[in-house]
Amino acid sequence: MIMQKEKLYGKTLNELVAVTKRLGLPGFAARQIADWLYKKEVGSIEEMTNLSKKARELLANDYEFGLSEPVKESISQDGTKKYLYKVLNAKYIETAYIPETDRATICVSSQAGCKMGCIFCATGLQGFQGSLSANEILNQFRSLPDFKTITNMVYMGMGEPLDNITEVLKSLDILTSEWGYAWSPTRITVSTVGLIAGIKEFLEKSRCHLAVSLHSPFDEERRRLMPIQRTNVLADILDIIRNFEMNSQRRISFEYILFKDINDTPRHIKELARILNGIKCRINIIRFHKIPGSEFFSPDEEATIRFRDALNAKGILTTIRASRGVDIQAACGLLSTLKQNTPV
Ligand code: SF4
Repeated sequence: MIMQKEKLYGKTLNELVAVTKRLGLPGFAARQIADWLYKKEVGSIEEMTNLSKKARELLANDYEFGLSEPVKESISQDGTKKYLYKVLNAKYIETAYIPETDRATICVSSQAGCKMGCIFCATGLQGFQGSLSANEILNQFRSLPDFKTITNMVYMGMGEPLDNITEVLKSLDILTSEWGYAWSPTRITVSTVGLIAGIKEFLEKSRCHLAVSLHSPFDEERRRLMPIQRTNVLADILDIIRNFEMNSQRRISFEYILFKDINDTPRHIKELARILNGIKCRINIIRFHKIPGSEFFSPDEEATIRFRDALNAKGILTTIRASRGVDIQAACGLLSTLKQNTPV
């Protein structure tokens, strides 16, 4: 049986310090390794040429660099690309790359499948197959063929990021630390279905933007769309956000998938304005992308614009997110690797 070596890519500086201590390497070697992993574009331990030959040999005995290429690429008519990555030994996840005129956003997955069971989402329907390591989260970014053009990152792919908060926080640490990629936290948004404990921890330990899936301001209706509302109620989530002292750079947004004749009425507009009162935030309206067997429909363009305008008139900054990559199932709610993964 071939033993898999531990991967260096995806380790935080503290973890690299532990590696160098264990191998008896000098203290400064951890920063040198971080440099090779996150600042220079090499892909092997052999190329870490400012480490002594002996140090490289010691590292290579127990560790590998840890990058792995996507196994499949799909390209949409609108330029969006979707990549299939192998993770967790024999599971698969998808990553979307969305180029625009002035930016390019990567939408990464944090889990293979998802436990949350939102009834409008293809990932939710495939069940849960496992949580990704920081290596597997960041590899989606680093091994993307268009890696150098990426300007923004959203954790809105497969899975619930705050259900895998330890590895997600590690990946954010690597992205935003000066020894890592040194990105501004304002280039990164983490989305959540609304896990209360996770939101608290995320707000305290990171400075990145937060996007909460809202989808209905009414308890009963939200519970039907998103089972998580049974245990993590929206009112409590809003209280945490309202009472947390945000720095002015940090953005809180609420995602709102518009379902025709379900959550697109004047009653919803009035209630949204009421519950979000006093919270500095914005609403992103997302068009519903139909998944097989779904009873829901998307309202037409005019109704969507009317809904947006009505919220703006109530003083809530509201935008409609452009749908990208629908023809390759890369758009919101469509990511699925059900065919490749066996649900557990
Ligand atoms: S919408 Fe997000 S949290 Fe809900 S099932 Fe899909 S991936 Fe999971």
